Amino acid sequence: MRQIRLYDTTLRDGAQSEDVSFTLDDKLRITERLDELGIHYVEGGWPGSNPRDEEFFRAARQLRLRQARIAAFGATRRAGIRAADDRNLDALLRAETPVVTIVGKTWDLHVRDDLRIPLAENLEVIGDSVTFLRTRVDEVIFDAEHFFDGFARNPDYTLACIAAAARAGATLVCLCDTRGGSLSGQVGNAVDAAQSAIPDTALGIHCHNDAELAVANSLEALERGCVQVQGTMNGLGERCGNANLVSLIPTLQLKRGWSCVTPEQLAGLADAARLVYELANLEPSKRQPYVGQSAFAHKGGLHVAAVQKNAETYEHIDPALVGNLQRVLVSDLSGRGNLLAKAAQFGVDLQGDPAALQRLLRELKDLESQGYAFEGADASFELLMRKALDGDRPRFFRLIGFRVIDEKRHEDEVPIAEATIMLEGPDGTVEHTAAQGNGPVNALDCALRKALGKLYPEIQDVRLHDYKVRVLGGAEGTEAVVRVLIESGDEHERWSTVGVSHNVIEASWQALVDSMDYKLHKHRRGR
Ligand SMILES: [Zn+2]
Repeated sequence: MRQIRLYDTTLRDGAQSEDVSFTLDDKLRITERLDELGIHYVEGGWPGSNPRDEEFFRAARQLRLRQARIAAFGATRRAGIRAADDRNLDALLRAETPVVTIVGKTWDLHVRDDLRIPLAENLEVIGDSVTFLRTRVDEVIFDAEHFFDGFARNPDYTLACIAAAARAGATLVCLCDTRGGSLSGQVGNAVDAAQSAIPDTALGIHCHNDAELAVANSLEALERGCVQVQGTMNGLGERCGNANLVSLIPTLQLKRGWSCVTPEQLAGLADAARLVYELANLEPSKRQPYVGQSAFAHKGGLHVAAVQKNAETYEHIDPALVGNLQRVLVSDLSGRGNLLAKAAQFGVDLQGDPAALQRLLRELKDLESQGYAFEGADASFELLMRKALDGDRPRFFRLIGFRVIDEKRHEDEVPIAEATIMLEGPDGTVEHTAAQGNGPVNALDCALRKALGKLYPEIQDVRLHDYKVRVLGGAEGTEAVVRVLIESGDEHERWSTVGVSHNVIEASWQALVDSMDYKLHKHRRGR
């Protein structure tokens, strides 16, 4: 089976994304996870350009990696000096990695206007730099910067550049679509030309996503004979990002039948993608192919009915292969099939209770017409389902009343929010507490938890993870209806709840109550 070598540059190119910054610890954790995932090369950073990267290479030497080889990234020597005198090349050697990747100019426009040296001198710069490294490190990868743009304008010169790297002994020449604007046909033709120019040197591909073709262009280059693909986790990277390895790996493996990682490693793909989002402090993209929450989510009634019979009808792969899950969404588009499937996910058999199913459908349509949405609020939906089945939803306390005060006493002072709450437990105990918060909803949440915590100690480990307010169209200004979505969690799971009202505090209250009721209900059932 044909083997494709995976080269990850999340820690270098990926770290150049807007809003992304990895700590040393993050970088080490990502490296270990990429190794577990089966990535062959992990580019750790640019030791000449920043001290944090130098630290990384020192620390990475202590990691016990299965197969990933760490690569240090840098550029060819500066013009006018010897390679041995170049401080950046020296920094690359001091990183003590088995692999060094150096980027060099291969577009005549850059040589003339950026480097401002004669075209022939750039060939010497490339050759020298590779020769210098070749005897000192195991593998030298030459990244041919702007290869495709250069090839389009002055093919002879661009090919002469990669020939200089190959002659000097580069282990692999990686063809880069640095501006990310090439089309797949162009990429294919240029790869063919590179192969004819340097038939004895292995080729790699490094694409950027400025025309949203990074994955397609990488695939095309591999079809034409490249053996290594460079990319990043979740497509992080400068501007619009790099080729997304999370999309490429399953495509190459499941669709092309090429071998990249083991099936067990592939099943950890969604998890690895999530870890990188988390460490990058980015919200995972719902619609991300293969691993996104929506990638195998079905909403239309027809679709749901069909996937229940045979998932292949609307799923291009089995989601379990990449560690994802099929989801059935509940919404006003949903028919009985969705509801039955959704209920089954919660371990509830609605099939045997047509009257309950009817009640649930009616209630759902009614609530949705008021602005509720249950697609992102599984826990509220489960409570609703319980109500349809059992005649009432699980209840653990009764509200006697609450009051929220938001007070700003001086122009330059931050407002103070305070909530008092009175509620009654199942045995008639009345709890009356107050709490402050950094806003009215936070204060209400704290007060509710404080009061409930006395009745139910298991409430202590519930955390509020996310709070979203959406103003629903239709009415104008303050008349509008708001929908609040809350994500809560304990150490075992996360759940989401919803509330709707003209009043944002009331909407938040509903979502908070659902969250607490869900937790207590779950606890009582031993989940
Ligand atoms: Zn790049």
